[in-house]
Amino acid sequence: MSELTPPATVVSVAVDAPQHSALRSALSYTSDRPLPAGTVVHVPLGKRTVCGVVWPAAAGDPLGSVPGDGPPLELRPVEAALSSLAPLPHEWCKLVQFAANYYQRSLGEVALSVLPPELRKLNDTQLAQRLKKLQKLAPAGGPAPVLPELTPEQTQALEGLAAADAGSVALLHGSTGSGKTEVYQRLVARSLDAGRQALVLVPEINLTPQLEARFAERFPDRLIVSLHSGLTPAQRLRHWLAAHLGQADIVLGTRMAVFASLPRLGLIVVDEEHDPSYKSQEGARYSARDLAVYRGKLEGAQVVLGSATPSMESWQQAERGRYLRLSMPARVGGGVLPQVRFVDMNHVPKDAAYNAALSPALVAALQRRLERGEQSLVLLNRRGYSPVLQCLECGWKSGCPHCSAWRVFHRVDRTLRCHHCGYTERVPRACPDCGNADIQPVGRGTERLEEQLEHALPGARVARIDADTTRLKGTLETQLASVHAGEVDVLVGTQMVAKGHDFRRVTLVAAVNPDAALFSSDFRAGERLFALLMQAAGRAGRDAEQAARSEMLVQTWHPTHPLYAALRGHDYTAFAASTLAEREMAAMPPFAHQALLRAEGRTQEIAQDWLAAAAGAAEALGAADAGVTLYPPVPMAVARVANVERAQMLVESPTRPGLQRLLAQWMPQLHALRAEHKGLLRWAIDVDPLAI
Ligand code: ADP
Ligand code: ZN
Ligand code: ZN
Repeated sequence: MSELTPPATVVSVAVDAPQHSALRSALSYTSDRPLPAGTVVHVPLGKRTVCGVVWPAAAGDPLGSVPGDGPPLELRPVEAALSSLAPLPHEWCKLVQFAANYYQRSLGEVALSVLPPELRKLNDTQLAQRLKKLQKLAPAGGPAPVLPELTPEQTQALEGLAAADAGSVALLHGSTGSGKTEVYQRLVARSLDAGRQALVLVPEINLTPQLEARFAERFPDRLIVSLHSGLTPAQRLRHWLAAHLGQADIVLGTRMAVFASLPRLGLIVVDEEHDPSYKSQEGARYSARDLAVYRGKLEGAQVVLGSATPSMESWQQAERGRYLRLSMPARVGGGVLPQVRFVDMNHVPKDAAYNAALSPALVAALQRRLERGEQSLVLLNRRGYSPVLQCLECGWKSGCPHCSAWRVFHRVDRTLRCHHCGYTERVPRACPDCGNADIQPVGRGTERLEEQLEHALPGARVARIDADTTRLKGTLETQLASVHAGEVDVLVGTQMVAKGHDFRRVTLVAAVNPDAALFSSDFRAGERLFALLMQAAGRAGRDAEQAARSEMLVQTWHPTHPLYAALRGHDYTAFAASTLAEREMAAMPPFAHQALLRAEGRTQEIAQDWLAAAAGAAEALGAADAGVTLYPPVPMAVARVANVERAQMLVESPTRPGLQRLLAQWMPQLHALRAEHKGLLRWAIDVDPLAI
């Protein structure tokens, strides 16, 4: 070293380096001044400058360097630091570290992917300007709220929660309409009174506006911000900063919000905790619910998981006494849950059942609502007009040329669309194989159901809500508003309409064709169906006066199925008990812990060969002795998407630590193994996968 070099300190930095996904820990850089852990910095990496976070010393590797990026001892200096930003809290670093380890991703990838993208682009001067503007963020001006008198169940739940220890987890099992949100709000108020921040998570971005409105009304003098992917980059940064600086008292958001920097966190609420949307399907594939539980322990914050149909994982924790269970079975204001009736499709004339999808019993029930000026909600979990078009002459079907899947017929714009790769074409005038003009839709989606309802109920105002009708920003709100205003008689939709919305005039909920999930290869399909139908049932009878006339109709070919028996009694507890008994007998989650290794290649053979080699590496690490089972590689349910072949391999262990130990040793080997397999495009690990 020459005499001119100023004395430099070494800092560990978690860098955003997706191209070095094998890089699991922080890298070392020099700095001419000490930089506190949690400082956002810009550092050189290869030929680029990337964003990073100064990492607490213990977590970093003092001599770390990018593999193949020169001799390890030549440390490069930090280029710039965002010094006007208060460092990220130590607990935030711990949360990120835990998520990276647990979900087997690189530290830097997780750290940077959960910061607002805008933050990575700004230099310190620009950031200082943004911070100045931020001081103008203030709570909306509003009258003091009138608090409702609590129901006895709410009172009891709140007493139980008040007695719970900091960092403990409570499962609030409350029927739809039992007033869970009121309980959340009282808890938030307690947290704010104690000078702490509250984080409230919801599964769907669609549910944030109505929740925000309810919180704004209740807490008119508090700053409430939201965090979700629907914000503009500038908004997201502003909201994130308000949380980070401790200005925002309440943060509402979707799963990404679990990573919000909150210096004085006191409460985390996870509403609809069973919802699969809490599990990310890309990147680190984290579960925001599970991270919320970890974070609560880490920061001594109370965690409340709320649901009418808790996940089997959470229910089991409650059964074991690890989570405090609080029950609110009754609906507020005397509303009762609708009576559930089943239409046995085996007894419906075949033509009517096949062609119309609408049984005479369902049409009659809809008709009664029309006559009384009440609303109906008809649920079908498949969008588009029909899932496939078929030639009646030669049997041609509308397959996707790039995927092993059918293309869905969308009648509105007469297109065939692949829901996997997006490939879209105009519907051909005649069969591409034989020239026959008679090509017919087979099966039905929401578009066709809408048409059939219009036909069966002349004069009825039928509206449809699904991913197709709500693509444009704001359309969902407009559509929901017209339902609330009574401008719609029959609302058709996918699961989107079943969740959360407080429809006051709905007295009939119908599930047209829910049977498929009973026989799915995914062992969680039944659990999801039960939750969806319970949610949907919860849309009816919210108004006490109408509750007595409210009903749910389920069209089924299997009316004696035990899942439907539990639904008839609104009996989640019975459903959970039998499901958990089955899972225990079959040693499936939550009685086993899984990871799914996925591989994509130019051919199935390449993808499966790589998985087989990966299995070999795991066996060499002693997987069998550790009790970890590796199942044979298989093609994914939709094996080819956009001309890429996809395969997967299930890894299972009776214990979580057993699985984690193997994964930690195995991952570095998989990075190395990739290079040996030409034609392998991508691989990824999904820890605690939800869809198998
Ligand atoms: P959940 O989230 O459990 O489905 P909500 O919190 O949406 O139920 O409550 C259902 C309805 O009951 C809401 O309109 C809410 O304002 C109202 N509500 C909740 N608690 C009370 C109460 N104690 N007294 C009167 N109305 C209440
Ligand atoms: Zn043909
Ligand atoms: Zn396709």
